[in-house]
Amino acid sequence: MNLSPESIERLRSLVEGAPRRIVVLSHTNPDGDAVGSSIAWAEALRQRGHTVTCIVPNKYPYYLDWMKGIRDIVIFKSEEERALQAVEQAEAIFCLDFHTLSRLDALGDVIAANASAPRVLIDHHLDAPDEFDIKFSHPEASSTSYLVYKLIEALWGAESVTAAQAEVIYVGMMTDTGNFSFSALTPDLYRALAVLSATGIDIPTIYNNVYNSFTEGRARLFGYVINRKMKMLRRGTVAYMSLTEAEMRRFWFQQGDSEGFVNYPLTIKKMRMSAIFIEHTDFIRVSLRSRGKIDVNLFAARYFNGGGHKNAAGGKSFVSMEETIAHFEAAVEEYAAEGLV
Ligand code: 5GP
Ligand code: MN
Repeated sequence: MNLSPESIERLRSLVEGAPRRIVVLSHTNPDGDAVGSSIAWAEALRQRGHTVTCIVPNKYPYYLDWMKGIRDIVIFKSEEERALQAVEQAEAIFCLDFHTLSRLDALGDVIAANASAPRVLIDHHLDAPDEFDIKFSHPEASSTSYLVYKLIEALWGAESVTAAQAEVIYVGMMTDTGNFSFSALTPDLYRALAVLSATGIDIPTIYNNVYNSFTEGRARLFGYVINRKMKMLRRGTVAYMSLTEAEMRRFWFQQGDSEGFVNYPLTIKKMRMSAIFIEHTDFIRVSLRSRGKIDVNLFAARYFNGGGHKNAAGGKSFVSMEETIAHFEAAVEEYAAEGLV
């Protein structure tokens, strides 16, 4: 991955000058990468004397609660005033792990209200827009946390990474790569991992904290979804699942409990694409995964008002579950007719 030397120098002049009030933002339904990259970058800025507020639109899943520094993150949904004030006073705004304001929901309007603070993008999603003063848009990076590592390395050297930063960066790298099993696993990523490991972080404990910390309800819900709700299309090469609010209540659903469900159909050898539809109050969240050449980023953009990465994307549906499923089935057929499935 090549970071633009020009952008690095512009970033350097922004963060090595006089202390500033800085906001670090990440996306709705923040995941390990959103939170990990935000905490690590905020810490790097604080080390340089800045006052930093991290903001996310809504709460992160409970299996990330153990992360050091996570409680300092302002959750817009429950602390609107605090978030608003921080944004209004911000002298620089960093956008991490997303690039469209629509991924901020209501928080997007708040950001739009501060037009004077320079905006910096640090992100790995496809098709970044131009509306940033400094832009590190790297779809080839496996996580935003890896990007944050690369920026810290370029600005202040790998030896400046503390164990606390290494731990949260590792969480982001691990979660966005499916514990280092997806694509974009480059030699340089492993060089970064060697540096993180050398800080003394406890990798098995980090893994257990994230992946082996769910509730009994989640395990039972998972069994139910796979057994009863997984439907097949196109001779078992496309799968979809759905979860209504009533079903989630039956299993004491907590935000984060459905994490990873959408990946499971891809453990079936001939599976090419998988989807899950999860009912929320005002819409249905759509998560998509694929293998190989099938582009679910394009699929999400075309059919579900969303986007993401080639093999992992998401979006929203504003019609009923039945209509969403019918729309999905028709979309798969259309996509297949174009040779895209
Ligand atoms: P997940 O299925 O884990 O929620 O999301 C998978 C990927 O798709 C993530 O990289 C996420 O940022 C992206 N994504 C999920 N939902 C949306 C959406 O509504 N809009 C866009 N642009 N990307 C999304
Ligand atoms: Mn990410």
